[in-house]
Amino acid sequence: MPFLEPKYQKAAELRNKRRPKQLAVINQGGCTGCMVCVDFCPVDCIEVVPGPDPDNPSVHKLVEIDLPLCIGCTLCAKYCPWDTIEMLAFDGAYAIAPEWTLRGVVDEQWQREPVQVEEARPRRRDREKKATE
Ligand code: SF4
Ligand code: SF4
Repeated sequence: MPFLEPKYQKAAELRNKRRPKQLAVINQGGCTGCMVCVDFCPVDCIEVVPGPDPDNPSVHKLVEIDLPLCIGCTLCAKYCPWDTIEMLAFDGAYAIAPEWTLRGVVDEQWQREPVQVEEARPRRRDREKKATE
């Protein structure tokens, strides 16, 4: 699925070239909203979301990662001063993110059709085994 917004083009190109082995997931229970990670993300996929109190959404804003755009570079996890970003295996990240996310963009992203990525290329020994069958 092509991205509609130009800002997604670079990320989409990177993702289509190589499916990341891991994705970053923020455990919002430990997030202070300092936004350090936002500055480090090279594909601009960390979003600022409202704080946990619905009556005061501008207080203690949090961040979330737009998983379909994450290229798994690990920079955010490396530089988060509160050590609350985990790098998880590709499929595991999608499973865990809703549990660690209080509110915000993740639910919206779930509604969106995921980026089409090429199937992982079979390992050489599997290809060779198939060829001899
Ligand atoms: S750097 Fe860590 S604590 Fe700061 S906003 Fe990002 S995830 Fe939250
Ligand atoms: S792993 Fe890299 S691409 Fe993914 S959210 Fe963190 S900084 Fe951005």
